[in-house]
Parts: sequence; C-alpha cells; structure tokens
Amino acid sequence: IAKLAHWEWLPGRSEMLWSEELYRVIGIDRSAGLPTLDNLLDRVHPEDRSSLEKALQSSDDPSDTWTLDHRVLRPDGEIRVVRQRAEVERGPDGDPDRICGTLQDITDRRRAEDQIRQLAYYDPLTALPNRRMLEEHLEGVLAGADGEKIALMIVDLDRFKRVNDTLGYGGGDELLRAVARRLHRCVESVAGRSGGAGSLTTARIGSDEFAVVLDEVRSLEEVATVARKVLESMREPFLIEGKSLVMEASIGTAMHPDDGRDVHALIRNANTAMHHAKEAGRGLQRFFRAAMNERATRNLGIESGLRQAVDRDEFLVYYQPLWGTHSEAIVGLEALVRWPSEEYGLVTPSEFIPLAEESGIIESIGEWVLRATCRQGRAWLEAGFDLPRLSVNVSSLQLREPELFPLVDSILHETRLPAEHLGVEITESALLTDRPAVTANLESLRELGVRVSLDDFGTGFSSLSHIVRYPIDTLKIDQSFVRGIGRKGQSGPVISAVVAMAHQLELNVVAEGVETAEQEAFLRREGCDALQGYRLARPMSVAALNRLLSRR
Ligand code: C2E
Ligand code: MG
Ligand code: MG
Repeated sequence: IAKLAHWEWLPGRSEMLWSEELYRVIGIDRSAGLPTLDNLLDRVHPEDRSSLEKALQSSDDPSDTWTLDHRVLRPDGEIRVVRQRAEVERGPDGDPDRICGTLQDITDRRRAEDQIRQLAYYDPLTALPNRRMLEEHLEGVLAGADGEKIALMIVDLDRFKRVNDTLGYGGGDELLRAVARRLHRCVESVAGRSGGAGSLTTARIGSDEFAVVLDEVRSLEEVATVARKVLESMREPFLIEGKSLVMEASIGTAMHPDDGRDVHALIRNANTAMHHAKEAGRGLQRFFRAAMNERATRNLGIESGLRQAVDRDEFLVYYQPLWGTHSEAIVGLEALVRWPSEEYGLVTPSEFIPLAEESGIIESIGEWVLRATCRQGRAWLEAGFDLPRLSVNVSSLQLREPELFPLVDSILHETRLPAEHLGVEITESALLTDRPAVTANLESLRELGVRVSLDDFGTGFSSLSHIVRYPIDTLKIDQSFVRGIGRKGQSGPVISAVVAMAHQLELNVVAEGVETAEQEAFLRREGCDALQGYRLARPMSVAALNRLLSRR
C-alpha cells in the first residue's frame, strides 16, 4: 500500500531477493535482468553509486540501520529519487549476515518540497531569490566571512510608480522582470563575478527594490565599479509593450564588517545609503557613512514609515473651516493630512510633506488625501449636510505631472462628488517651473468646476505675473502677514494692498492663521472674503466637525 519495494541481500553474494515493486521502481522487468547487486547498482545514478556501495559495505558501522536518498536512472532515461532504508542483521562474530532493505519512490514528495521551497524563497514574478532567501544566505556568508569584506547593495528604481500608473500593472511587471534579468546579467558579467551553484548575487527584496551581494571584495573601488555598471545598464532603454522606457535607479551600499556585523544592520545601513543616493538626485550610488545615521535617522525613518503608511492607510484627514465674512457661515473646509505614526507620534505635515516630496511618495499621499476627502464629501452630502467646498493641498510635484487632472477627474467620478464641491490649493513654487502641464492641469480643473487657490501667498515670489498668467480663483494670504497685524512693520499696508489688488483681478481673498480678535477685526475691515485660523476653528476630525455642522 505504501508502494514500498523490498529487497534482501546476503553480503558477499551476487544475487539478491527483489520484490515485485522493486522492478517497477527501478524501471526494469523480470526478463530484462536478474536480481543481482550489479543490476541494482547499474540502475543507480552514477553520481550516487558510490554512496550506496559504501552504505552496503558499512560492516564496521555499529548502527544496525541506515537510510540513504539517491537517484535512480531508469533505462528509459527517467530519473527518480528513492529513499533506501536498510536493516543489518549480524552474526555471532558481529559481521553482517543479511541486509534487508526497503526502497520508496519519493520523487513526487521531493518535487512538492522543491515547489514549497521555490515559493518560500523565490520571488514568483522575477524568479530571483526573495528577501528571506537573501537574509538566510547573507547570514551564512557573514558567518563564514572571517574578516573578509562583503558588500550589500540595495538597488531601488527611481519613480517606478509612474510606470505602473502609465502602463498599468502588467507593464510594471514586465519592466520588473526585464530589470531583474538585466541586473542579474550585469552583476554576473562584471569581472570575476560569476554566481556558481549555491552562490547568490541578486535578489528582489521589495516591489522595485533589489539587492546585490558581493563577497570577497578587495576594494571599495571594485564595488563602486559594479554599482556604476548597474546604473549604466538601467539607463539603456527598456522596450515594454512597444514603448521605450528609460529607467534610473539609486544604489546604496553597506560593507561588512565596517558598516554592520549582522544581516539586519547591513540591510538597514545599505537602505540609509540608498535613501541618501535618492535625495542627492536619483541615478546615483552612495556608500554608507556613519554620519548618515545621526541627524538623518529620523528623516529616513519617517520616510520609510511613510511608504508603509500609504499601504496601511495610516493617514487621517482633518478639516479646518474657512469662515465667510459676507455670509457669516462656513464657506470652505481645508483638508489637512495627519499622520499618527506608531513610531514617531503625531508627525506634522510640515515635517513629512517635504520628505515625501523628496522621495517621490508625495504622489501616493496626494492621491490618498484627494480620494479620502472626496469620499468624505460624498458622505456628508448623503448625510444631508449643506456642504461647503472642500479644498485639498496639492504639491507642486503633483501639479507638474500631466496625470494630475485625469486622476482628479477619475476620483470625482469614483466617489461621485460633484466638482463644485472641490478646490485645490497650490503654492507659487509650482508656478515657477513654467511647465505646460501646470497650466493644462489648472485649466482643465477649472473647466470641470474645481476652484484653484494660491496658498501661502506672500512667502514665495509673490509675483504679480503669476496671478495674472495662471488661472486662479483665490489668494490665501500667508499666516506670517496675519501674525504681523498690529505689530511694527509693514504687514497691515501689505495686506491692504494685496486685498485691493486681488479684488481688482476679481480674485477671492482668504486670510490664514487668524488667531486674535484684533487680527480678525482688521481683516474684516480690509474686506477679506474668508478667514481661517484658530480663532474661528482649528483643524478637526470628522467626528468633531460633524458635531459642529449639526449645530448649525
Ligand atoms: P497650509 O496649506 O498653509 O495649511 C495651513 C496650516 O496652518 C495648517 O498646518 C493649519 O493647521 C495651520 N493653521 C491653521 N490655522 C492656524 C492658526 O490660527 N495659527 C497657526 N499658527 N497655524 C494655523 P498643518 O496642518 O500643520 O499643515 C502644514 C502644511 O502642510 C500646510 O500648510 C500644507 O502646505 C501642507 N499640507 C497639509 N496637508 C497636505 C496635503 O494633504 N498635501 C500636501 N501636498 N500638503 C499638505
Ligand atoms: Mg493649504
Ligand atoms: Mg497656507
């Protein structure tokens, strides 16, 4: 039942006793061969033959049983894997009298084990080893290193997300496979670096993140050369779905033993170096330096935390009311993102938005905030609230992307929020680059009914030409001017001038950061259309806002 084949052998004799099943497992029938030791050994894979012979002759081995897995080569060429278990009966002199064995075909089980191993240790998309395999492999390499230098490189594609966004996930997958192949080939081709059996050079450790391990490193220059070659190889255009794509990557390297003695320290430090490479401008490589850790640790921690925060939905949106001075009612709600991070506490957007912009995560965060806000708007509409316009801050990086408008459009559709309930707040820095996509985005948004506010007016270049040239509905006077009201300095007159000018251009004027009665009185007198600030209402959670709205 267990498909066990069985044999008996008297040592010294040539013929054996074979069960019916044994013939089947080794693939010969009775007519083809007598049950002899030679015939059995003939069917054993040549590379495994000596180990079976040794087991059969282990007369001085004191144990009375042995187990051996080996391959069988059938006459038709098929290779099976079998497990032999044998029991040795000894005579009075202690020499083996008789050996009885069972033989089981374990090929299918082995295959299943291999498959499980493949799943556990290899990335299904690229067939490269995965992070787990990398860690285990590195552990082994480090354990046997004995002072020799080992380099761990982390190669991260720059702006990979854009590929997914433009080509879809299918295109993204295809690109990742092509990158994996190219990376693998490139690393192997670099002088003297051929990955023989069991040696690992490349692994895929994140969606667009790869690792390269180089052992027996002689000099940093050698590692730098490999990194340079990798970066160069990425810049060759990839042909994906008929489109030619040029990719760049950033590489960070940490060296054993100087930058880390254990696997996790090495990976962490290589990552730190990689983020520094990205900050320095993409398409670059950096070696880890201890100094990177000090001031930058928090920033880097926040940055990588942000990546996960998007996936894990860790953000919240608070809303701050804008109070209309003509209607004496809430005329707008500004969406302000919040990140209650498990590790860093409540991180303010002033701290994490610039980091997100540097690392490119801003696009995902921006999309998240936009969707969350529109969804919330829809929910308020359905709850019967008299919904004012919701305004979302849009980073200059997003505004420069031609994809912004289609994204807003599709989110409005998806959430079924009418466009006249949405506004975007942009800053002057977005207008400085003079890219056609900026104007195109703004114009399409306004055509749809989305209003555009110029945020923090007065802190940037406050260039009149911007206000005239770009399609803008509202100016938001920056808090720093409001704070200066009633103090020495030119704040008051500047505000008066800005309000007058904006009204001439038929723009709305909002004053931000209104904290005192004096400021409020001044701004009302000057004719600001709306006020925003702690004096009127703080940014608040949806629950708090629900209470406020239902009191109206
Ligand atoms: P902002 O767009 O100028 O937003 C106004 C900021 O002033 C908010 O800070 C708000 O909480 C704060 N504020 C409001 N009233 C007062 C007041 O009376 N006194 C004082 N001292 N501050 C007041 P917050 O929420 O920390 O956001 C800071 C900045 O981060 C925002 O400035 C905006 O530029 C950016 N930001 C916030 N959420 C997002 C977002 O979802 N996407 C993008 N790209 N940027 C965002
Ligand atoms: Mg704003
Ligand atoms: Mg502002």
